Amino acid sequence: MEIENKKILIVEDEVSIAELERDYLEISGYAVELVHSGQKAVTMIRSNPYDLIILDLMLPEIDGFSIIKAVRNDVDVPILMVTAKKEDIDKIRGLGLGADDFITKPFSPSELVARVKAHLARYERLTHGGVKKKEVTIRNLTIQLDARRVLVNNKEVNLTTKEYDILVFFANNPDQVFSKEIILDRIWGLDSYVDTATVTVHIGKLRDKIPDGFIETVWGAGYRFNIG
Ligand code: CA
Repeated sequence: MEIENKKILIVEDEVSIAELERDYLEISGYAVELVHSGQKAVTMIRSNPYDLIILDLMLPEIDGFSIIKAVRNDVDVPILMVTAKKEDIDKIRGLGLGADDFITKPFSPSELVARVKAHLARYERLTHGGVKKKEVTIRNLTIQLDARRVLVNNKEVNLTTKEYDILVFFANNPDQVFSKEIILDRIWGLDSYVDTATVTVHIGKLRDKIPDGFIETVWGAGYRFNIG
C-alpha cells in the first residue's frame, strides 16, 4: 500500500463526527489533526502547512464562511466544505469564497476519503506538475505574469513597462480606490521627479489598450479597478 504523508486538518465541532472522519483518513494513510473551534482553526491554518482542509460550515463562534474568508488569501490548498444543508452550497458558490468542493451530511466516510484523494492529486498536479500558470484572467483580459504579457480577447497588446506595472498593481488590488499620489508612490516611488499628471497620462494610455470598464475614474478620489 502506498504510504501518504499528507497532512489534513479537520475543522468540526461535533467531536464524534470529527473522530470518525479522522479514523477513516488515518486508515488511508493520512496524518490528521482535529480542531473543534473556529477561532483556533484560523490560527492553525495560518501557522501550519496542511495539504488539505475539511471545514464544517456550522461551527459555534466563527462559522465556516468566516474561516474560509479569513484564510483563503493565505492558503491555496484544497478546502472541502462540509454542510448539513444543500442550500448552503449555492450560498457558498454565490459568495465566491473559493471552496474546492462540498460534501453534504450525512456522507459515507469512504466518499470523504475518495474526495480527499482526488483533490490532493489534483492539487499535486497543479503545483508540482510544472503546469501551474502564473496567469490572471478577468473577463476578456489576461495577464501572464511570468512573461509580462497582456492579452485582450486572446490577442497580445503591447504595454510599456509602467503601463504594465500599473495594470498588475490594479489587478492585485481590485475594487479599491487609489489616488494619483498613491499610484505615483507605488509605481514610480517617492523619490521620483514625476508628478501626478504623468499618472493621468499613463492611465489614459493603459485604458485605451485594455477593454472598457476595468479602470474607473472616481471623481475627486482617484481610480478603481473593477473586476465585478
Ligand atoms: Ca457543526
